[in-house]
Amino acid sequence: MPDTALVCTSGHVANWHSGTQTQLNVPFCEKCGKETISKCPKCQADIRGAPNRFNPAESTPPPSFCASCGAPFPWTTARILAAKELADLRDEIAEADKPIMKTTIDDLVGDTVRTPIGITNFQRIMGKAGPVVRKLFVDCLAGIVSEAVAKALVR
Ligand SMILES: [Zn+2]
Ligand SMILES: [Zn+2]
Repeated sequence: MPDTALVCTSGHVANWHSGTQTQLNVPFCEKCGKETISKCPKCQADIRGAPNRFNPAESTPPPSFCASCGAPFPWTTARILAAKELADLRDEIAEADKPIMKTTIDDLVGDTVRTPIGITNFQRIMGKAGPVVRKLFVDCLAGIVSEAVAKALVR
């Protein structure tokens, strides 16, 4: 039975074992100052934590979606919105490609049947936009796309 994670609304994990190692629970994130939550804001289910008593690697991201109701967690929503805003702001992305890039971001987040379409569009648009813009999107989407998708995006 996995423990419950305590995560700040930006997505920094404050405690992978908030159910059993309660002495490590904190109300605010020491990395960014945002409040921490251990339950899904939508359905109040516990946020899935570490599967055993060991802490995952420092770089392990918290879950992107609630396993009980499927809602994106606040850090997921924030990164999706930031990536879409980035698509609007960067002149390197052609006007005609901007709406496609936004759909692409939805396609990349969450492993679905549309993920390969997302990767294909991402590569096409980033091939024109250049490596600087590509890196901005890769960093923005890090942690909310699967490891396989993250690898495909830097190629
Ligand atoms: Zn934080
Ligand atoms: Zn939920």
